[in-house]
Amino acid sequence: MSHNDCIFCKILDGEIPSAKVYEDEFVYAFLDISQVTKGHTLVIPKTHTKNIYETPPEVARELFARVPKIASGIKDVYKPIGMNLLNNNEEPADQSVFHLHIHVIPRYGDGDGYSSNWTVHTDNYSSEDLQQMAKEIKDTIES
Ligand code: AMP
Ligand code: ZN
Repeated sequence: MSHNDCIFCKILDGEIPSAKVYEDEFVYAFLDISQVTKGHTLVIPKTHTKNIYETPPEVARELFARVPKIASGIKDVYKPIGMNLLNNNEEPADQSVFHLHIHVIPRYGDGDGYSSNWTVHTDNYSSEDLQQMAKEIKDTIES
């Protein structure tokens, strides 16, 4: 269902133009206007869902099922040396459009336009800490 004031729903409705990469009953893929790297593509469900938390399993299943084919197509055309998938949820995590989307970002090497920062904190957690944290999460998921 189309959602008021959602720019991606407007793209789905054809109210806003887009560069279509793929479309079927459940999913639409189009070039991200920012083109962080050449071929940067967004894959979205046709069902409006704000982000990963609100996404029913069947929408997630259909959405992610299309990603390998789309990523492989981009790989075949532009011959990137790597590919990152990215999904931002909520503003502090850089979500700016509140219609679930997966970024498919082909990589061409250092300075290609995309970078991510990881700080490794392995030394801050014992294996007991990890077991305890895993239990907290597991118990919540299962409750
Ligand atoms: P995010 O920051 O993860 O919510 O990503 C939203 C993405 O949507 C950004 O990378 C924008 O460049 C992209 N975007 C916003 N408006 C459009 C548009 N009209 N056509 C294509 N991409 C868009
Ligand atoms: Zn929407």
